[in-house]
Parts: sequence; C-alpha cells; structure tokens
Amino acid sequence: MNTLFERLYGHEAQAVYFAPGRVNLIGEHTDYNGGFVFPCAINFGTRLTIAPNQDRCLRFRSVNMEPVVELPIDQCFAPLPDRCWVNYPLGCIAQLATLAGGLPMGYDMLFEGNVPLGAGLSSSASIEVVTAYAFSCLLGKNLSLIEIAKVAQHSEHSFAGVQCGIMDQFVAANGRQDHALFLNCDTLEFMQVPIRLDGVAIVITNSHSPHRLDSGTYNERVRACQKAVECIRKEKEIEYLAQLSPEDFARVQHTLTDAELLRRARHVVSETQRTREAVQALQQGDLNTFGLLMNASHRSLRDDYEVTGVELDTLVEAAWQTAGVLGSRMTGGGFGGCTVSLVREDAIEAFKKQVSRVYTEKTGLTAEFYIARTSDGVHIVRNAN
Ligand code: ADP
Ligand code: MG
Repeated sequence: MNTLFERLYGHEAQAVYFAPGRVNLIGEHTDYNGGFVFPCAINFGTRLTIAPNQDRCLRFRSVNMEPVVELPIDQCFAPLPDRCWVNYPLGCIAQLATLAGGLPMGYDMLFEGNVPLGAGLSSSASIEVVTAYAFSCLLGKNLSLIEIAKVAQHSEHSFAGVQCGIMDQFVAANGRQDHALFLNCDTLEFMQVPIRLDGVAIVITNSHSPHRLDSGTYNERVRACQKAVECIRKEKEIEYLAQLSPEDFARVQHTLTDAELLRRARHVVSETQRTREAVQALQQGDLNTFGLLMNASHRSLRDDYEVTGVELDTLVEAAWQTAGVLGSRMTGGGFGGCTVSLVREDAIEAFKKQVSRVYTEKTGLTAEFYIARTSDGVHIVRNAN
C-alpha cells in the first residue's frame, strides 16, 4: 500500500490520466463570441487515478477539494448542490454513461491538481477533460479529442453552471508541447503554431486576489455580447460579434446606442483582429510585435471589457515598466487570477523583484510567479494492464 490511491481505496489503481491547464497568450473573451484564441497547454494540470470497484458506485476524492462524494451508478446523474467540485467531472461521466447505455460498474477516483484553482489557468477544463477522456477510454467509446472538448464544455454549462466558450476544454484536449493553438471558436478549425521563444520565457503571475470573475459576472458579459449582436442585426446579419472586421464594426457601431454595449462589442472585434496579427507576428519570429499586441489586449480588457481590476492592472503596469519585458496582459476570465508576460530569461529575477514590490506596496497582496512550459494535451500516463 504505497501510493495515495492505494492507501485511500485499499486496492490498486488501473490507470492514470493527465490533462493540462492552459495559459491564453492572446484572444480573451472572444471564444464565446465565435472569435480567435491563442492559448497553449501548460505543464500544470490535473491527474486522475482510477480503478473499477465492485460496489456499483462512483467515489470522488480530490487532494485539492472537500468533500469526498459517493454516488450509486444505478441512478440518473444530476448536478449536486452548493457548487460542489464534483459537478465538473460528474457532468462528463453523465454524458459518457448515456453514450454507453449506462455504466457497467462503479469506479474509485482520485484527482490531483497542481494548477492553482480559480486562478484563470483553467483547472476546471483540466478536471473535465481528464475525466471525459478517461471514461471515453474505459467505456470503449474512443471519442475524438474534439468530441472530448465538447463533452467537457457541456459539463461546465449544464453541471457547473458557467456558460463558457470552448477554448479551455479544446486546448486541454488538443494542446501540443512547444506549440500554441490558434483556434477559430466558431468553426473549430485550428492550427498548431510552433513557439520559438529563443531566450524569452512565458511568465505567469498569480495575483492571489480574492476577487475573481464569478459565474454571474461571466454570464453577464456573455449576455451583453448576445444583446450587442441583436442590435447590430438591424443593420447586418451576423451570428457572432467576432464575424465583424474592424471596418464592418465602424459601419454598424451606431446601432449600439448603449455606451457600455458599444465598449463590450469593440473589445471583441479589436481582440479578434489583434489575435490574427499576433499569430502572424509569432510565425515571423517577431516577438516584439507580439508583445505590443499583448499590451493592447490588456488595455482593451481594462477599458472596454472592464474585467481587469486594480490587482491585475497593477501587475501588468508594473511589468510594462520593467526592462526585458516584451509584453504583459491579464489572462483568463479576469478580475483576479493571473497575468501572462513574455520576459527575457536574463531579466526574470529583476522582473519578479520589481513586480512583487510594486504589487505588495499598492495592494498589500503577495504575487506568485510560475515559469510555464508548454505541454501536450490530455493523455494516459500509466495503464496497469
Ligand atoms: P479555473 O478554471 O480558472 O481554475 P474555475 O472557477 O473555472 O477556475 O474552476 C475552479 C473549480 O474547478 C474549483 O473550485 C473546483 O470546483 C474545480 N476543480 C478544478 N480542479 C480541481 C481538482 N483538482 N480537484 C477538485 N476540484 C477541482
Ligand atoms: Mg475555469
């Protein structure tokens, strides 16, 4: 009885799976607007260790969250109350069980995450995707990675109650080491773009801010964008805001008489364009332009989409003032959570010192730094059979 799984469950594991978290380099709040995003999967994620049991129940344990939950498999799975963490994996299992015509047996599960939870690095997608992938394999359904992403997104909508776009789940499933993923969230066409950073690191800074984008505020932004689409339709037939080029937007923006809606829509349109340009810059090895586009992305999220807040703004503005920083912006949903910066490797220590000092002086909080490496998407780590 050596491993944690064996100590907790009293028997051996059958298999171990891993799905990564992600950092979005640019293209924020565009995914549910049919726009482009440009994230990469990172070397922090969620591991699922699993084995069948003879008790016809699902047992959920996490080293990161309480409570331990046990559910009989001979029932219809429904979301649990009080925003229980189990809803994220359970919504995936419910769909796979339906596809398989029911679960043939129970399973003991242990989740272990090293993505900071709720920090905008998508621990939620990593726990969903690892679960969807594991059950797709265990039940012999062998879904494609795109189908896995859709199952995971549906779980977040219907069991966790967050109307998120497809980006997080898509990259947790399809990410590739040394690449960022350029995804069209409308058509799901995607391209793996090699990242050659040559002496530059992707530094993630965790604000550890108590404020974060809750599901209510997130869903409010989703609704604002839907409302903007309805207004613009009086003038031009569109399904999503991101279908508008900046020129189209200039022609139809008078339909947005509400100043707030205008700002929200302007962010989506300009961010979609910046994401296109950023991918081109990276393909040409032009990291300076990439960095400037990241900075412009942050300003748009701060001024037009209004999802930054004093903590993220302080971190980003301190980064902009630091030598050796090519670009810096908030990443993820916003308010609290993390920033992402491109920093020359020889400037990382000075960056940490400067940003920490300014941040603590202004907010009283302590920033934490991670140097992100890119990672592959969901995969099996070990199979006992
Ligand atoms: P983010 O995806 O940015 O980390 P979310 O609020 O979308 O933040 O998701 C965080 C939630 O996901 C946690 O509060 C928890 O319910 C669930 N979760 C993620 N990873 C784990 C884990 N390893 N164990 C248990 N729950 C997890
Ligand atoms: Mg999430």
